[in-house]
This record gives sequence, structure tokens and C-alpha cells, in this order.
Amino acid sequence: MSAFDAVERDRRALERDQPGFEPKAMAEEVLPRRPTAAVRLFFEAGEWLRQRQSLIQRIQWAVVFAYVLLVAVPAFLPLPARTAHIWSNLTLFAQFAFWGIWWPFVLLSMALVGRAWCGLFCPEGALSEAASRFGRGHAVPRWIAWKGWPFVAFVCTTIYGQMISVYQYPKPALLILGGSTAGAILVGYLYGRNKRVWCRYLCPVNGVFGLLAKLAPVHFKVDPAAWTQSRLSGHAHAKAINCAPLVPIRTMRGASDCHMCGRCSDFRGAVSLAPRGPNHEIVHVAGSTSKPAETLLIIFGLLGVATGAFHWSVSPWFVALKQAVAEWLIDRDLLWPLRLQPPWWILTDYPEVNDQLTFLDGALLVAYIAATAAAIGGAISLCLWAAARSLGPWPAARFHHFAQSLIPIAACGVFIGLSATTVTMLHGEGLALGYVGLLRGALLVGSALWSLWLGWRIAGLSTTDIFRRAAATGLVGLAVLIGAGGWAVFLWVW
Ligand code: SF4
Repeated sequence: MSAFDAVERDRRALERDQPGFEPKAMAEEVLPRRPTAAVRLFFEAGEWLRQRQSLIQRIQWAVVFAYVLLVAVPAFLPLPARTAHIWSNLTLFAQFAFWGIWWPFVLLSMALVGRAWCGLFCPEGALSEAASRFGRGHAVPRWIAWKGWPFVAFVCTTIYGQMISVYQYPKPALLILGGSTAGAILVGYLYGRNKRVWCRYLCPVNGVFGLLAKLAPVHFKVDPAAWTQSRLSGHAHAKAINCAPLVPIRTMRGASDCHMCGRCSDFRGAVSLAPRGPNHEIVHVAGSTSKPAETLLIIFGLLGVATGAFHWSVSPWFVALKQAVAEWLIDRDLLWPLRLQPPWWILTDYPEVNDQLTFLDGALLVAYIAATAAAIGGAISLCLWAAARSLGPWPAARFHHFAQSLIPIAACGVFIGLSATTVTMLHGEGLALGYVGLLRGALLVGSALWSLWLGWRIAGLSTTDIFRRAAATGLVGLAVLIGAGGWAVFLWVW
């Protein structure tokens, strides 16, 4: 029996046992809905994925080939001349492909179709799993499973990327992307068997992808009743499936960890690709377990560090700070921080295009990003704490849940920041993109309203008092305003 048929069977059984039963009145995860044409279509799509694993593998190897070509080759070519174009220079083409298209639109895809990129196309995941197939197969050590890695890896990669100008030059891109790929292969070789231990725990964007996937209107849904029934009725030894990112499928309720590979579609007649509301996971699932590492990543990572990383190069405050510190150093005859020029893999060093960072630049860059993260993250934390406190005496769980409501605005900010490279490069090619400002404004306002709506829904789980609910939502709105304000300053003030 397929998962699709199991849903229909369970629904009929409930209608038989409870005349007048109305599925829509009850929570989606408790009672199955009437399977619609859309549900059948999604189920068939999941089945299509499951049956096309060898095709998916071939696609992954093609992506690996293109990835190696675009990451490695430009690093050994001279820097492009000023007159070079995206279509005539491999370095510029690779820069546009990676930072103008791949990175912002992979992020966007997470919110649209979950982590399908990870499971169907990602070259690092494919290489890590392939290495794991022939590797040592050790058990995953505890240090790898540390929950703080997604935050630490994101912050370190973001700051280091700014220090060496990863978006502008091919050698830093090879160092960061190639280093990450080498790490994925090594971890795959050492740990797990046919698994993606790197992707599950250590990938620098794992945490961000997991957050964005919560917004996806599609996921692999597990029917616990059908699963249990399958175990009890002769399918106790159903053929095991290999979930490479180590998701505990039976208890899976969200899309954060699932790579959408389709291998478990219809497993035990209980798993199916299914549509869902884009608010469902954040409102109904994300609050059941507090995840401080996720809260840190949203508030101090995406809304703090990422904002600072885009701000510093255009900020008049950064220039004023640099001048003041430089004068202070000169007055004391301390000139080495102004002269010291570390190599390109520590700080940007391209004298041929007049682009170099001194030791002072590097130190202030890190300090500026840290200060921005502390200021924005601290203010937002205060707002969320007050929102949680306004609804009851012990705010910790609600605080973490309210933080989840900021995912749309945080994701939108990072998408807008990253797509700035796309816009700059297309401008450089002479394309007039007059509508971009309007589009950015609409995205920012839309995502801010979405976050506010999530705040309202989450507040409604704790109180029926309309005034308390409105007050808590207002405080979440203040946090949204602070987050959006940081990006608005970057886009329209500086
Ligand atoms: S739960 Fe695992 S096997 Fe199933 S679709 Fe997600 S990643 Fe693939």
C-alpha cells in the first residue's frame, strides 16, 4: 500500500469511527486530509525521485565536473582586464556563476523546494558520500556532532571570506570552496558508510540551509500511524533505505535536515512528498524543541554578522574609525599596523589592481563586523525577550520560538546582500536594472510582514488575550524593524 493510499484509508477509518469528522478543523499532523489531485501529484513526484537515483547520481557527477572547472581553473589564470566581459573571460564567468547566480539562488531555492539542492545537485555532498562509500567507516565522534558548528562555521566562513575578498577574486574562492570540499571528502572518508556526515554536522551553510528549508511549501511527510501499522503487519523487516544525511526518518517532522533526495519516498507506506503551508513548520513544529544554536544563528549570525559583512565596505563609520585609529597610531609612531601587508590568504593583497588590506584594515574589519553583530543581535534579543516575557513568567522556550519568526526577514536580507554581486556585475556589463530598487523594497517589506505574521501566530499559541498577543507581536515587530533597518541602511543610505 502506498503512502498516498494509506492517507485515504486512515481518513476513511476516521470518518467511519467519528461521523461528522472534519479534518480541516484539526491539526494537520494529527489527522490526514482528503488526498487531493495536488497531493497525488506531489506523491508521484517523490516516487519519481526515488526511482531515478542513478540519474540523480549522474547529474551530481556532471555538477562536480563543472564545479571543479569553475573553482580551480580561474585561480591559475591572470586577473581579468578592465575591458573583459562575463561571456568572454572564464574568471568573470566563474565569479558570476558562483556568487551572482549559484549562491543567492541556491539560498532562494531552500525556501521554495527545501534542501533539494543538497540532495540532488550539491557536488560536496556527492563527493563526501562517494568517499564514505569506500572509506574507513568510523563512528561519528562527539566533537563532530556538536550543535554549535552551524553557527561557528557560518560566522568564521563569513568573516574570513570578507578578509580575503572571496566574492572578488578566484584564489580565495578556491581556498574557501576548495577547502570546504576537501573537508567534506576527508570527513566522508573517515566517518560513516554511504553517509554525508559533513553535510549533517559541519558544512558551513548547513545551519542556514536548514533554517530556510523551514519555509518551504513542500516536504517529505511521515505518517507515524502508517509507520507503526507497517511494523506490526508483516513489514517489520522492510528493506532499509540509506538516508545519507542521517535523518531519523520515523520521527522527522520538519524539513531542516532532509535533503529531499527521495530515497525514502513511500517507505513503509508512511513517507510521501507532500505540500504544506509555508508557516506550518515555524508555527507548529519549531517551538516544540528549543534550539539555542539556531537562535544564535538567526539573531547574531544572519541578522548580525551577515549585515556587518555587507556593511563594512560601504560604511562611512568604518572609514571614520579607520582614520581615527590611523591618526592615533601615527601620533605614537606606531606604523607597523599600517605597513604590515599579510599574504592574500590572510588579507586581500592584489597590488596590480590597487586592492590591498593592511593589518589595521583587517583588525578593524573584524572589529566592525563583531560590533555590528553585537549591536543588532543585542537589540533584537532584548525585543524578543520582552515579547516572550509579556506572555508569561518563563520566557526561554517562547524566546527561541519567537526567534524563528525572524527567519523570513533574515533570509531576505542575506538574499538581497548576496544578489548585490549579481546586480553589480550585470551593471558592469551595461545592463540597466532600474527596477531593482523597487524589487528589493518589495522583498524587504514583504518578508518583514511575513515575520510579523509569524510573530502573531506564535504569540497566539500562548495567549487568547488579544491585547497581550498584540503587545508581544509589536515587540517582535520592533525586532523585525531593527533587522530590516540594517539592510535598508546598506541599500539606500550608504
Ligand atoms: S529523509 Fe533522508 S532519505 Fe528521506 S528524502 Fe530526506 S534525505 Fe532523503
